[in-house]
Amino acid sequence: MEKEICDCLSNETKLLHEPYLEKDAYNSLNMPVYHAVAYDFETAAQMELAFTGKSPEHVYSRISNPTVQHFERRVKTITNAAEVISFNSGMAAIANTFMTVAYSGGNIVTSPHLFGNTYSFFASTLKDFGVETRFCDLTKPDEVKANIDKNTCAIFLEIITNPQMEIADLCVLADICKKRGVPLIADTTIVPFTAFHAADFGVDIEVVSSTKYISGGATSLGGLVIDYGSFDWQHSKKLNYLINQSILSAFSAKMRMEIYRNFGACMTPQVAYMQTIGLETLAVRYERAVKTCKNLAEKTVKLPNVFSVNYPALPNHPYYAVSQRQFGEYAGAMFTFDLASRKAAFKFIDNLKLIRRATNLFDNKTLAIHPASTIFGTFTEETRRSMDISQNTIRISVGLESIDDLYNDIAQAIGK
Ligand SMILES: *Cc1c(COP(=O)(O)O)cnc(C)c1O
Repeated sequence: MEKEICDCLSNETKLLHEPYLEKDAYNSLNMPVYHAVAYDFETAAQMELAFTGKSPEHVYSRISNPTVQHFERRVKTITNAAEVISFNSGMAAIANTFMTVAYSGGNIVTSPHLFGNTYSFFASTLKDFGVETRFCDLTKPDEVKANIDKNTCAIFLEIITNPQMEIADLCVLADICKKRGVPLIADTTIVPFTAFHAADFGVDIEVVSSTKYISGGATSLGGLVIDYGSFDWQHSKKLNYLINQSILSAFSAKMRMEIYRNFGACMTPQVAYMQTIGLETLAVRYERAVKTCKNLAEKTVKLPNVFSVNYPALPNHPYYAVSQRQFGEYAGAMFTFDLASRKAAFKFIDNLKLIRRATNLFDNKTLAIHPASTIFGTFTEETRRSMDISQNTIRISVGLESIDDLYNDIAQAIGK
């Protein structure tokens, strides 16, 4: 073990100085990239201990890897979580989470306002395995309550839906979950854990696409599952046999020891290295991007031919109050606006000179996309309508450029 750091320090400081589990031979200040598949042992007895989980050595990198473990430990430090497990994409984190909690005959209660692949995962992939997904309005407590029954495996939501920008009241949902013995699982990709403390609002498990803010400029795909250890898994028909079997929660034990290994969607050491560097600057990058985003949204409201600007930190937004309560002054570095038609939206995209035409969120570069024809382009018009995806909407993911340069580009692209 490397030298300890003082418990008196803030999590932001601790994150930067997270000690290695083993002293590095060369005193490297960055965690080395252990691009190894397997690890050598001195004796058969030591191998047995490690392979049966009685000693902590790494044995095979699909199960654990020193560089990946270091990344997970840093996330654990900054979130105060009970356990953190990393994956090779956000979708892998989501899929593995539901492979852990759901079972044939079980159901998930969620909203139709979801990231496209997450929607498809619930509506199609899980359905084929006998798991029902109940899409309802999570901002209506009575609807949520009516959809929960004894086979409900989880309530799942995105904390700010994209591109609709719907925000459900987490404390209300957490209260329902607690009373009914159901875990609350949230995709928090849109506001990073340096700015939003999910556990304070009753979220039991947080899933994150670390591809977005954390990777530090769209360097790599990655995903995180953050278990706060707050849910009592004796309420889970599937996982209750695992309670008190190890220091891990029943959920993390099932995921770490079985699901994670069997699906093999582990984060690679190279990615863990890049995303560890990304974590170090996460808070400052987010601070800059959200300030620019709010500013840009306020200025875009005043432009001619812009019909509505959708950003929850603007005072006239329908979810302004709940947004302020949950996320403070800002609400993620993404906003949308509507133009007159699909044709006007395409023309705007084509006219951009600085802002890049690309999907993805929270790159260091600002990105624009027309969600209806791209991310949701293969869905039927009926499904798009049920998800409130409009043909007139443009989505902007705000990066680190100067506000004036971004505003000028948007203004000229609308004006032309
Ligand atoms: C991007 C995204 C995902 C999927 O993450 P990948 O890393 O692309 O697999 C899931 N949820 C949200 C909210 C996202 O923005």
